[in-house]
Amino acid sequence: MSVDGTSATTMILDSKSGETLGRPFLYNESCPDALPIVKSIAPENHTVCLGSSTLCKLVSWWNSSDTDKGSVVLMHQADWLLWLLHGKLGISDYNNALKVGYDPELESYPSWLLSQPYSNALPSVIAPGKPIGHLKEDITQKHGFSNDCVVCTGTTDSIAAFLAARATQPGKAVTSLGSTLAIKLLSTRRIEDARYGVYSHRLDDKWLVGGASNTGGAVLRQIFTDEQLEKLSKQIDPSEASPLDYYPLQTAGERFPVADPNMMPRLLPRPESDVQYLHGILESIARIEGKAYSLLKGMGATPVEEVFTAGGGSKNEKWIKIRERVLGVPVSRAIQTEAAYGAALLALKGMEGNI
Ligand code: ADP
Repeated sequence: MSVDGTSATTMILDSKSGETLGRPFLYNESCPDALPIVKSIAPENHTVCLGSSTLCKLVSWWNSSDTDKGSVVLMHQADWLLWLLHGKLGISDYNNALKVGYDPELESYPSWLLSQPYSNALPSVIAPGKPIGHLKEDITQKHGFSNDCVVCTGTTDSIAAFLAARATQPGKAVTSLGSTLAIKLLSTRRIEDARYGVYSHRLDDKWLVGGASNTGGAVLRQIFTDEQLEKLSKQIDPSEASPLDYYPLQTAGERFPVADPNMMPRLLPRPESDVQYLHGILESIARIEGKAYSLLKGMGATPVEEVFTAGGGSKNEKWIKIRERVLGVPVSRAIQTEAAYGAALLALKGMEGNI
């Protein structure tokens, strides 16, 4: 059994009783009070140097809570759920622990973190998909699981979704076309740049490089209904390049592949034909996707060779063809994209030694 959870959703518990010492911090919550402190201790552009990082949440709690701090442990959402299943408090995996500052290359917390007063609250970390222990007896009996059911370390939601697509070779990538556009590329080299929100998760001996743009399906939904999207898309000729050049955003600000907090959405001029308009928007998003993969290559990642697609936009066959032309690599819809499927593969790996 294994579990994935939203990365940077953070819980702080009493390490003896397991009781929560405050409300959970949600993944997208920002702790601006802690950011200057974190920036002063971490290397420049480190993944923790974001107000929503797990480390900012820990520092913010540490500096504002008047709870006794003698026995405190930090757990991510997946760690906590797994703890309910196996009963050993304070265990995490190196995917979830990345945003608290764990170094998956050195397989330890860095010295700048270990010298902090809250270092005792950091969970111990092992690889994702490693057996932790047997399922607790009461749960086994109550729900009728087999007595040899083993609970393995988990991972984050987005990594589990990537694992589901079974893109196991360097150069294989998954683009998620949901409300936003997120890309994940398997690379032999680790790359990081907090300016673009680019960071790498370790997957055994490879690196899963990721970045997320603010463009994506949410903008499409502001202009067209899903039914219109389907009808209009059918009339697009994907072999023709659209001359329309947009930068579809819901609100001002972009992070990746252009780091510009003031970037304005560009969705004009709107041609009379809705088919042409949609073609221009889909093609513009494809160009942003292409730029994203080029940026990762420029930063030193393995060049993209094949793209699988997840999310609501993946069902649009015409868009897949447009993207194939713009990206210059094969693009297809991923067969499996549910994070739960990826977590199940991780559990399988825990039992068999490989996926
Ligand atoms: P979320 O990120 O919210 O989980 P989903 O993966 O459910 O998003 O995808 C929803 C998005 O898919 C919507 O924003 C919508 O614009 C987009 N979408 C739905 N149908 C189509 C289509 N036929 N072509 C392109 N995009 C589509």
